[in-house]
Amino acid sequence: MIRRFLYNFFQGRNGFDNLARFTWILTIVFLLLSFFGGIFGFIMQTLALLLLVYTWWRVCSRNVYKRSQENSRYLTRTAGIRMKFRDLKTRYAQRREYKFFTCPTCHTLLRVPKGKGKITITCRKCGNRFSGKT
Ligand SMILES: [Zn+2]
Repeated sequence: MIRRFLYNFFQGRNGFDNLARFTWILTIVFLLLSFFGGIFGFIMQTLALLLLVYTWWRVCSRNVYKRSQENSRYLTRTAGIRMKFRDLKTRYAQRREYKFFTCPTCHTLLRVPKGKGKITITCRKCGNRFSGKT
């Protein structure tokens, strides 16, 4: 019954998109920071409240077209940062088997098996060669 209600409620509404997830996480961060108290805590609390309202306003919005435009704008703007995070995750997961290098010319992340000594690395993107220790 609750499920049916939720289904009907979110029908035709924007729902939880990437931007909503991001503002939701920010809300929680501000809320946690508000526990420091004082004027700082008060500002954090206010920001958390504003973000909470904003997040749910977007989630419940019926103007799905406009909301999805905001969402894709958010995704485009944060593409670089999100890629860096993904790189960090990959590096961490494969840190035992591989050594990672960044091409000095085009900054592409390159992966080389560990334990091969000093080698010449050729960038797969721009063809630049440089040496590194694995
Ligand atoms: Zn390169």
